[in-house]
Amino acid sequence: MKLDSKIPDGPLSEKWDRHRFELDLVNPANKKKFEIIVVGTGLAGASASATLAELGYEVKTFCIQDSPRRAHSIAAQGGINAAKNYQNDGDSIWRLFYDTIKGGDFRSREANVYRLAQVSNSIIDQCVAQGVPFAREYGGQLANRSFGGAQVSRTFYARGQTGQQLLLGAYGSLSRQIAADKIRLFTRRDMLDLVVIDGKARGIIVRNLVSGNLEKHSADAVILATGGYGNVFYLSTNSMASNVSAAFASYKKGAFFANPCFTQIHPTCIPVKGSYQSKLTLMSESLRNDGRVWVPKIPGDRRSPGHIQESERNYYLEEKYPGFGNLVPRDVASRNAKLQCDLGKGVGDTQLAVYLDFKDALKRDGQEVIARKYGNLFEMYEKITADNPYETPMKIYPAVHYTMGGLWVDYNLMSTIPGLFVLGEANFSDHGSNRLGASALMQGLADGYFIIPYTIGSYLAEASPEKIDVDHKEFDLSYLNAEARIKKLISIKGKRTVDNFQRELGSILWENCGMSRKNTNLKKAKKLIKELRAEYWENVLVGGSEKDFNQRLERAWRVADFLEFGELMVTDTLERQESCGGHFNEGYQTDENEALRDDKLFCHVSAWEFRGNSRKPRLHKEPLKFENVELTQRSYK
Ligand SMILES: Cc1cc2nc3c(=O)[nH]c(=O)nc-3n(C[C@H](O)[C@H](O)[C@H](O)COP(=O)(O)OP(=O)(O)OC[C@H]3O[C@@H](n4cnc5c(N)ncnc54)[C@H](O)[C@@H]3O)c2cc1C
Repeated sequence: MKLDSKIPDGPLSEKWDRHRFELDLVNPANKKKFEIIVVGTGLAGASASATLAELGYEVKTFCIQDSPRRAHSIAAQGGINAAKNYQNDGDSIWRLFYDTIKGGDFRSREANVYRLAQVSNSIIDQCVAQGVPFAREYGGQLANRSFGGAQVSRTFYARGQTGQQLLLGAYGSLSRQIAADKIRLFTRRDMLDLVVIDGKARGIIVRNLVSGNLEKHSADAVILATGGYGNVFYLSTNSMASNVSAAFASYKKGAFFANPCFTQIHPTCIPVKGSYQSKLTLMSESLRNDGRVWVPKIPGDRRSPGHIQESERNYYLEEKYPGFGNLVPRDVASRNAKLQCDLGKGVGDTQLAVYLDFKDALKRDGQEVIARKYGNLFEMYEKITADNPYETPMKIYPAVHYTMGGLWVDYNLMSTIPGLFVLGEANFSDHGSNRLGASALMQGLADGYFIIPYTIGSYLAEASPEKIDVDHKEFDLSYLNAEARIKKLISIKGKRTVDNFQRELGSILWENCGMSRKNTNLKKAKKLIKELRAEYWENVLVGGSEKDFNQRLERAWRVADFLEFGELMVTDTLERQESCGGHFNEGYQTDENEALRDDKLFCHVSAWEFRGNSRKPRLHKEPLKFENVELTQRSYK
């Protein structure tokens, strides 16, 4: 199969407009004849559901949680980018496009990223109209702050709770459509399989997480907006429910998985404390607007920060990258934090931390101003660590945060299975090998509010799928397979808990396929994961019944998928013999320890095709063409 990205012809700035004009339309009166399944109610799924229902389609929306409002998107803190240029500080659509392409280390599609920058401004208008309470300047204009990888202020925010406020906006629109009977909402449902009939996505199998019953749901098209796979590392800043299962089930049904090796390790998280911790907490990148990152100059200096004089501190980001300072992109900031800790300059009990210090900002602006910007983050930090960041610097360390890889989609956000569309963090589309801060919310809402409403209509108009019902044999087959897998998991009755397996998988990946990667370690990791997976199916202890509320069973299903997906991730990492963005192979670095790309051999998207459990997945390459920007070695000096 040849990958066709369906990027429209014509000048970059006209592609999306032309494409929208050329796409087929569904007659408004006919929209109600089409049913669309949307899995996920984070920002991508909620915005898509609301918009499609508003257009007239019949929508069925699913999520794991008891309310759409509990989707992981609610955790997003720092903000959302848009090229409004309210500040007149030099921003433009082109600059947002360029920063994003460069931030992703030239491993994303020009056309997608340009479109993202174009629609960014409409997102802000839409959210303001919904009543999202973005922070404002004294004169009433929406306020902006800076995020990494940009020298302009383009991040719109609502204190440190931007995701929550945006999700409430989308949830309001979703609720309006539920009340209008255009959306049927299915909460506490876990998608276990995708049903493909005659090569097209036609439905899903879900488990009712309360009753344990399996259900079949059919539709004319399916949208996955199921978030990212960061929890494959066990410890991450993702919500505990974030998983790869829906995407992985679709991969096994023919959707290619793109760039699974691209994981974002965020530089500012609360460091790991003990071996029984199950979750890590982010301290938003917005804090790097005012916080200064430093370590003691002398390795092994164990004095408390207050006793270390200015002249004894190393503000290593400001020194090494004077152009961007503390606001270098995440991959660069994370690698440098690790480098300092490897040199023995790490701080805190574990010496796996660096300081993020607000002393100067507090002196300059006063506590009230700082509290207004970051108050809830400071409170959260104090609750978790018992240190008051107004008085002593925060201790931070990189942690798994976001995944740039995901199901491969074309320009229309359609996967390699016709009728299966993938939105938000679940797709691979716009961030290359490193996502810039505040760009995930922008992408999820761009996909849901402004792209899918056009592209899915064209698919439905063209494909005009025949009606099918859930008695079709493909539904039965998927149902029986899911049932058998559940029974198998319950029946093993081994000695190790699900969490115990997941913790071990996470540690294999973190050690060997985390911030810094080596071929020898990757080969070792592959073998270890295979062995762990084999043991899992012999020795996992699930307990309870399948016909009941059973959270261990939920997790067991997801960990079974993580164990397979982890291997795919390592395979992809080994295949990409270069360094780019968050993918850092120690064998490929510049003299200054920056990622060294190989544009001759690896300027492509790697898309993996499943070929059965006993065969290696097949690699397909989508070449990336850069016609508007020059491929350069990234520099943030
Ligand atoms: C702590 C934190 C802070 C962040 N801050 C920012 C920020 O300030 N700015 C920014 O741009 N980005 C930020 N991000 C990233 C951003 O929040 C996410 O990338 C984004 O919210 C993902 O949205 P989504 O709609 O794609 O998926 P999610 O919000 O993850 O939603 C996934 C949905 O899919 C459902 N689902 C998943 N699996 C299944 C299944 N098998 N069956 C049924 N339903 C399923 C879930 O129930 C949920 O409704 C942050 C991330 C974290 C972890």
